[in-house]
Amino acid sequence: MNTEMTPKFALISLGCAKNLVNSEQMLYLLTEAGYEPVSEPGDADFAVINTCGFIDAAKSEAIDTILETAKLKINDPDYKIIVTGCLSERYKDSIHSELPEIDGLLGVGSFGNIAECAEAVLSGRFYSSFENSSAPVDEIPRVLTTGPSWAYLRIAEGCDNFCSFCAIPYIRGRYRSRKMENIIEEAEDLADHGVKELIVIAQDITRYGTDLYGRHKLSELIRKLSDIPGIGWIRLHYLYPDQFDDELIEEIASNPKVCKYLDIPIQHINNGILKRMNRRGSGDEIRSLFKKLRERIPGLVLRTSLIAGLPGEGETEFEELCSFLREARIERAGVFPFSPEEGTPAAAMEHCSEDEARRRADLIMQLQAPIMDDFCNSFTGKTIDVLTEFYDEESGYMVGRSYADSPDIDGEVCFTGSASEGTFAKVYITKAEDGILYGEEAET
Ligand code: SF4
Repeated sequence: MNTEMTPKFALISLGCAKNLVNSEQMLYLLTEAGYEPVSEPGDADFAVINTCGFIDAAKSEAIDTILETAKLKINDPDYKIIVTGCLSERYKDSIHSELPEIDGLLGVGSFGNIAECAEAVLSGRFYSSFENSSAPVDEIPRVLTTGPSWAYLRIAEGCDNFCSFCAIPYIRGRYRSRKMENIIEEAEDLADHGVKELIVIAQDITRYGTDLYGRHKLSELIRKLSDIPGIGWIRLHYLYPDQFDDELIEEIASNPKVCKYLDIPIQHINNGILKRMNRRGSGDEIRSLFKKLRERIPGLVLRTSLIAGLPGEGETEFEELCSFLREARIERAGVFPFSPEEGTPAAAMEHCSEDEARRRADLIMQLQAPIMDDFCNSFTGKTIDVLTEFYDEESGYMVGRSYADSPDIDGEVCFTGSASEGTFAKVYITKAEDGILYGEEAET
């Protein structure tokens, strides 16, 4: 490394949207401290790898990324690697001995020390910091990497639900809401920078406010966010099924800025499994919640996540889940095969083999495919609002999303016309193919 020049860094963000927000904050802290961001790790003096450690597949991806980046040390022995995020937090006692290529380690409560960490490792000192992962959420500015038209808005950290299969509460600490005024201030700033869609995220947004204000405050927060000029869409991710009250349903139904798209991970529908997994509420309560939401919110798109092969799932319980899915016709669903996570109660419970869990997950996706296709086809011949994102030179299409599409996990809308990036357009849909809608800009 040439020390006379500004040291360069590459930030690799793995895992979920909540991790991405931390990455954007580290990007801010490092650039403020004078380091220059580059996109290729090979062009940098050091890499920051913000990891996910949620399930086995995510851990393998994180370890592979660290090992791949460490190859840069062959030609540049001064190259440094800093590892942050869930993997480092979860394995703080062993990660450095397992992966001695790492030069700096930060836990989820310490990512705010990134500049100090960079300074230490660049001067040849190993740096490690693991502060309280349940401390109040740090209010750190960030450099937006999404958009230009949308951004994640994190409203809380951690989780208090302790589902038996999930390691998140042990990694990311107890549930801590951000203060409402800080969230609003951040949202106003995002709107000033051209953001039109706020994607409200946390492990569980329904619980927002209960720790800080002693009561549920998500409805109030949504109302205040929708008052911000320039914000056109508010999308809600990760609502816990038993925390819906009528005030929240009414707010979602009546507020024109709230996307009629709700992400409610249910994991399973069988009572015995839900209980064993420490999920509150029964299968029938989930069924009646979905029914009520569909009745009260016309055009509602439901997204959920499911786990196949959970402890206690035999053929009968699996069939119950499949028959629920056939009836509920959920428009968007993701399914994971059960992954026994060390340290969680579910890992010690009897469950089917990995292959069987994968087979069941595949069967669920096969069952869901025509439901999702029918839903996409239902847009053909209609004119819908689309938030435009970018012009794709290769295909000649402007690419955007409808209210039914959350970034990175759902589909897109490709259309012809003269709409510019980062604006809302009316698009007449002519066909649907592989989850993508195609159309032409409609006259307004
Ligand atoms: S609600 Fe359950 S599954 Fe979701 S993060 Fe919390 S503990 Fe994990």
